[in-house]
Amino acid sequence: MKVNSVGVVGAGTMGNGIAQVFATAGYKVVLHDITDEALQRGLDTIAKNMDRMIKKEKITEEQKRAALANITRVTELEAMAEVDLVIEAASENLEIKCKIFQTLDRVCKADAILASNTSSISLTRIARETERPGKVIGMHFFNPVPMMKLVEIIRALQTDNEVYAAVEEAARNVGKSPVEVNDSPGFVSNRILLPMLNEAIYALYEGIATAEAIDDVMKLGMAHPMGPLALTDMIGLDTCLSIMEVLHEGLGEDKYRPCPLLRKMVDAGYLGRKSGRGFYQY
Ligand code: NAD
Repeated sequence: MKVNSVGVVGAGTMGNGIAQVFATAGYKVVLHDITDEALQRGLDTIAKNMDRMIKKEKITEEQKRAALANITRVTELEAMAEVDLVIEAASENLEIKCKIFQTLDRVCKADAILASNTSSISLTRIARETERPGKVIGMHFFNPVPMMKLVEIIRALQTDNEVYAAVEEAARNVGKSPVEVNDSPGFVSNRILLPMLNEAIYALYEGIATAEAIDDVMKLGMAHPMGPLALTDMIGLDTCLSIMEVLHEGLGEDKYRPCPLLRKMVDAGYLGRKSGRGFYQY
């Protein structure tokens, strides 16, 4: 089982980064989103990221041109018929992901691996939507994808060993460091990170300190490269809220309840960097 070509579903924050790293490593990439506008935004972001890398002399103009030429843009999932591995990076919503996996299962070749970049949704649950549960796996990249080395590879209860091995090899081939994790709410990364971000939001909600002060404490005292509230803005408040809801529901403990302020800000459309306003203004 070897991965030579890749499909990416969703050209947003994560999807365009995933497409960029595979295309840069020489894989043919089929990039899908529901609208041409979303695809164009994703491709513009990739081009901008690569221009920055050229300025820093990390890649050449020629490498940028070759990487962009490896990406085919599509708005129909049927175009995934020939790829070896699909990585789904659409919005963090169980219903959306279930529909996408049902369609991928129908249109992709029988031995294709179907991976999800979900931050928290059960891979075991997603795998159930397909007739190939052994070929479903989690491939959890980190933001910004071109910079961050980690890929959490999450085994659903049903995942075949050879599928795990093929995905681990593909992750190494694009320069990432895979870490093996079993399926559980939030996996390892978000099981630990999100309660910390949520607690920082509680500290703001309870008036313990300003957003800047909370972030300074964690940056200057704990050597975090970015404060928790700035990081929440970067991840997206809606994404953070849905991960907290998965932890709360899946683990059933009060300590995972999302802060009311997080819920209120999502209701107001203050989603962080992507909407221009979160705990900070952009
Ligand atoms: P995003 O909102 O930036 O992008 C999501 C994209 O999916 C959008 O372009 C949207 O048009 C597209 N989309 C929505 N429904 C679709 C459908 N039915 N078919 C195809 N495309 C569809 O979100 P994101 O931050 O890139 O998150 C994507 C996934 O990655 C989520 O599962 C999220 O939990 C996960 N993730 C996010 C981060 C992060 O820091 N943002 C980190 C790791 C994992």
